[in-house]
Amino acid sequence: MKAEGFFNSIRVYLRLSAAEFLFLICLGVLTPWGSNVVFAASIAVDVGHYLQKPGVISARGVPEFEYNRQLAREVSETLRRAGHKTILIGDDGLAEDLGKRAPRAAGMDLFLSIHHDSVQPRFLSTWEYEGQVQSYSDLFSGFSLFVSRITSHLEPSLKCASAIGTALRGAGFTPSRYHADPIVGENRPFADEANGVHYFDNLAVLKTATIPALLFEAGVIVNREEELRIRDPAVRRRIAEGIATALGACLSR
Ligand SMILES: [Zn+2]
Repeated sequence: MKAEGFFNSIRVYLRLSAAEFLFLICLGVLTPWGSNVVFAASIAVDVGHYLQKPGVISARGVPEFEYNRQLAREVSETLRRAGHKTILIGDDGLAEDLGKRAPRAAGMDLFLSIHHDSVQPRFLSTWEYEGQVQSYSDLFSGFSLFVSRITSHLEPSLKCASAIGTALRGAGFTPSRYHADPIVGENRPFADEANGVHYFDNLAVLKTATIPALLFEAGVIVNREEELRIRDPAVRRRIAEGIATALGACLSR
């Protein structure tokens, strides 16, 4: 059926004149082209670290960069499916200058840097995995979010960080919380305690942002159980869906 004929049959069914029908469409009361008209945001998804300095090495010897890239791609695809525009930054593993990453997203609605977490070295033990000695710590787990007070966009950055924390908690994930613990030695104060959001003003990748920006640690990959969860494609999908739902809401105007 042609669109025109389809709309006309709706109009007839609702017993409206053509003028009334058009008027209701203009008011936004009727959206005959589909009920899920979402706000389309533009979001830069940054792959934390790069091939030369790949970040944390997981409990099973996998560089953080690999996990970051997998999750960043999944997040980007999920956001696109939800109608948003995205760019991936650092996907080729060659973006070595962290300060140049966020400026590439100038003019977009949000810069989101994707990472996986570790713990302070004194909490690490060793074990053997597939014939190799690896470091691990099963003491800490969970996601965390960071915003910088140095940027001029703290309020929208925090709003989106809190929204992601809320969505992930709703999907069954837990904030790590240990970054705020002075005994653990991190002392990153909470910006939103319930949702696992911290202030981290000097993060290289955030402080050059000219748009709302946040850093997301998806989980602690030196934790042996958490690494298995992070590897699970279904878990990755749930994280990406949580992020997409949160950003669709926090960025809508
Ligand atoms: Zn990292």
